[in-house]
Amino acid sequence: MVQYSHPEIARKQLVEKVLPKAGVRDGRILAAFAAVPRHLFVEEVLQSRAYEDTSLPIGFGQTISQPTTLAAILQVLALSENDSVLEIGGGSGYQTALLAHLAQRVFSMERVAPLSKLAWRRLDSLGFSNVALRIGDGTYGWPDKAPFDAIVVSAMSPRVPDYLVAQLRVGGRMVIPLGDRRSQRLVKVIRRPSGIDRIDLAACQFVPLIGRFGWEKRGPAPEGATGGMDS
Ligand code: SAH
Repeated sequence: MVQYSHPEIARKQLVEKVLPKAGVRDGRILAAFAAVPRHLFVEEVLQSRAYEDTSLPIGFGQTISQPTTLAAILQVLALSENDSVLEIGGGSGYQTALLAHLAQRVFSMERVAPLSKLAWRRLDSLGFSNVALRIGDGTYGWPDKAPFDAIVVSAMSPRVPDYLVAQLRVGGRMVIPLGDRRSQRLVKVIRRPSGIDRIDLAACQFVPLIGRFGWEKRGPAPEGATGGMDS
């Protein structure tokens, strides 16, 4: 169908050119990007831009993350097909779908109910059966599904929420943007038998994590937080 040829070509370009150029070599991750139609996770008016390597607005002041940023996060998470993953800030559901391709089970939380409902419709119509979505404050995590092999937080927090660390298995890993109004860093956290290791990854720009163990209300982030990453 003519209507779909353009998104298909643009997606191929993303997978075969843009992501490898950004250093993404993992075949499983590239296959996930090839399989998930990003244009179905943005509003119709933005569909022609869906395969640009940029974040895009998804409504409610939120953004769908930039593909190369998501790929970098997925590389750090190094998911195996047996992993159980918790995602905080599911937003459009795009990253949820990528995670669902790479792991066994994905539990995804989103505080904005209409976004979560829309994400659910998309994931359901694409046939994902290994995903569960919950509307609510993700800084509490999803205790009855813990422990998780990996946790990915898609919004910027002032700190690593203790509840999330407690829901990671020992040896499990979390990727989370940490920071404040002035600067944000993407950080990898590994749970150890006592405490955590933190590995600093890169500068980044995410919308604020709003919740009990994140920011209050609108958060501190300046206008234009984009869900992108500078490395
Ligand atoms: N990976 C998503 C990113 C969406 S932006 C995508 O690509 O579409 C980050 C999301 O985190 C927003 O949808 C925002 O509503 C959500 N969020 C912020 N604080 C949250 C919290 N405490 N619990 C759950 N979701 C939260």
